Amino acid sequence: MKNHAILPGLNSGQLLDTIKNNIPLGFSVVDREGIIVDFNKAAEKITGYTQEEVTGKSHYEILHGTSDTEACPLLNLAILQHKEGVETESAITKKNGDIAILSVTTFPLIDDAGTFMGGVELFRDLSDVRKLERERKNIFSMFVHDMKTPVLTTGGFISRMLSGKAGNLSPKQKEYLTIMEDNLHKVESLIMSFLDFSRIQTKGYKPEIEYFDLGSEIRKAIESVQILADKKNIIITYIPPAVEPVMIHADPMMLARVMENLIGNALKYTEANGTVRIELLNEENHVLVTVADTGIGIAEKNLPHIFDAFFRVSSETPGSGLGLAITKTIIESHGGRIWVKSSVNAGTSFHFTLPKKIN
Ligand code: ADP
Repeated sequence: MKNHAILPGLNSGQLLDTIKNNIPLGFSVVDREGIIVDFNKAAEKITGYTQEEVTGKSHYEILHGTSDTEACPLLNLAILQHKEGVETESAITKKNGDIAILSVTTFPLIDDAGTFMGGVELFRDLSDVRKLERERKNIFSMFVHDMKTPVLTTGGFISRMLSGKAGNLSPKQKEYLTIMEDNLHKVESLIMSFLDFSRIQTKGYKPEIEYFDLGSEIRKAIESVQILADKKNIIITYIPPAVEPVMIHADPMMLARVMENLIGNALKYTEANGTVRIELLNEENHVLVTVADTGIGIAEKNLPHIFDAFFRVSSETPGSGLGLAITKTIIESHGGRIWVKSSVNAGTSFHFTLPKKIN
């Protein structure tokens, strides 16, 4: 890069220095042998090494404590493969011996004559974020696993008492036990949602592919929630494509789950006497499914968060905030896409695509 004036009295070298010394990102420049030639203040803070300590030393030995180039994204991507702007996660050993997890973006440096000169690495420390994520996951898992057995056992005893196996009950005792049983079922369903979520989300989910008619799965999902719809006098209409069956390669159990989540939500968040419309379109390479309701809708500010785990607009209706997160993971694991359109009091429509064949 020529050292030309960017503004009167300010050249590109001064601009680079200003950026380098002030960005909250570690910045390290190495030559084509991987020897460090520049290291900014943020890099000193993240790694614990000063610029003097690292200048002239091998980047990968200082930071990665190894001569194995595979461990170093800068050397591996920017220097050996000349790849631009690749973002990776990498573990480094800090001066005090602690391991830090970094998000690293690397660039090769090419001079005016096109000769490869070295590489730049921009990095930020993700250790605290990763630690918080691990802790949150562990706390939830521990909590939910420990709750499952007592909740199921208590439910079993309540149902025995209600069946009269522990002696006769007065009408008041029956009434109270029934309320306890209903509430326990809500806790049980929260626990089951969380266990499903952690199975799908943390262990990685791979669809178990079968070849089946999506239309008949949709009809079955509608039947399974029909009682709920009848209770609220909500009419569910299904609009199939002109030609059936619509055969696809996908995981039928998980797609049934998706449909039950979306139709279940449509019923939950729609007032009595509303309607829910489900439509299946058969395109050339993919299908498009719509679940639209005439319900309470979702405010614009909440739409970007709607697929986040544990996000709920209000706690007035029971739920876990996990249904849409699970739904999105299932759809994306099939190579599909899901999105939502909604406005307050004007209803909500969820749309998802699925490729007919997944690789
Ligand atoms: P929940 O168990 O709370 O229903 P979900 O992940 O299924 O969890 O949905 C997250 C949130 O999105 C819900 O709490 C609700 O606020 C909103 N939501 C989902 N579907 C609809 C819908 N059809 N109409 C209005 N709001 C919806």
